[in-house]
Amino acid sequence: MHINHTHDPALRSWVDSAGQGGDFPIQNLPYGVFRRAGTEERWRAGVAIGDAVLDLAALARTRLLEAGHGDGARLAQRAAEAAAAAELNGFMAMGPAAWRTLRHALFALLREDVASGVRESVRACLVPQDAVEHRMPVRAGDYTDFYTSLHHARNCGKAIGNPNMVSPNFLWMPIAYHGRASTLGVGQQFHRPLGQCLEPGAEAPVVRRCERLDYELELAIYIGQPNAQGQPVPLGQAEEHVFGLGLLNDWSARDFQFWEMAPLGPFLAKNFATTVSPWIVTMEALAPFRSPFEREAQYPAPLPYLDGAGLRQRGVLDIALSVTLQTAQMRERGSAGALLSRSNFRHQHWTVSQMLAHHTMGGCSLQAGDILGTGTISGPEPSEAGALLELAQAGKQPFQLPDGEQRSFLHDGDAVILRGWCEREGAARIGFGECRGQVLPAIA
Ligand code: MN
Repeated sequence: MHINHTHDPALRSWVDSAGQGGDFPIQNLPYGVFRRAGTEERWRAGVAIGDAVLDLAALARTRLLEAGHGDGARLAQRAAEAAAAAELNGFMAMGPAAWRTLRHALFALLREDVASGVRESVRACLVPQDAVEHRMPVRAGDYTDFYTSLHHARNCGKAIGNPNMVSPNFLWMPIAYHGRASTLGVGQQFHRPLGQCLEPGAEAPVVRRCERLDYELELAIYIGQPNAQGQPVPLGQAEEHVFGLGLLNDWSARDFQFWEMAPLGPFLAKNFATTVSPWIVTMEALAPFRSPFEREAQYPAPLPYLDGAGLRQRGVLDIALSVTLQTAQMRERGSAGALLSRSNFRHQHWTVSQMLAHHTMGGCSLQAGDILGTGTISGPEPSEAGALLELAQAGKQPFQLPDGEQRSFLHDGDAVILRGWCEREGAARIGFGECRGQVLPAIA
């Protein structure tokens, strides 16, 4: 995926709110599914531009995309019609040529030097973002969660006194478990889960409310182009199967997790809720923010199927991330919350293409709309931890919030807000928006 005119930081949109510095300039153009809040309107896909959503269903009806004539214009119109649906799966399955064609066509309609007649027709398809509600941008058939941050693995091992959190296989393959797709959602509010817990020193487990509820700062990898069962995706082609990335919060019940997870991995500790952001940022939008993949000499070099020239040149994505906590008390006072940590996806031991190549090497098929969680994204510094387990040392070091409240794990009423953005010299800043979820009291 190479740099082209849709990445030019000098180009502007006629949408005034899409100026530089925000999450959604014309160089971004992320996809989501929305409708006007409080209505029974049909769900349809849109693209974020400034503080508005470009309604793709309305745009497809104008047939403006076809006005350019030729094969490209026809493909753009077909792509917009596919993307206008209540879920992005159909459009995502069309593959990279369709994704690129629609991005470039939308860019042409939104740039400031477009003819004024076209501009007014497109303007009629804009809906203010603060007037819409979202749902899952895809119908996710499967969800896999990886474990690819060496810093996270080490920090967790230290926090819970388990030296095996960096298992011998970690350095040789991107480790993962198959997660639960049915409880993925956007803007979730969920009840604190019940589960089994073995208290320290006890001989038998008890059933109770989770007392060690945590978040995990992750990215969601959205599969676009599927691969057939029995046809592994080679590393060099892996990103042709990735439509884009969003933010993902892998809520975790730590007290259940460490009792249930040996020997088959997390189960109820992770299956009650997983929250994603409304917007999917495409791989093409991320093209200016790539770096070479380098493996430090003290670690084994990747096996051949996890290595390649493209990876070595540009396999790493530089995505800044942050976690904000808004307690019930803060919300009542009108406070937007307190920053808990910052991190960056570039610190991960394994990349997007390596996760995909490993996932499929034995013949596993991936479908359009499948989601791969990257695993918690923790950086090398203690302040860059992507989970409370690390920040508060498994409850041993509770920390103080600016308003005097204390936290080791999440309380009822707590909302966690993940953010992501990309900034680099010579490129327009682009953002991921927010991934917001809130803890409600347990049902029983
Ligand atoms: Mn996770």
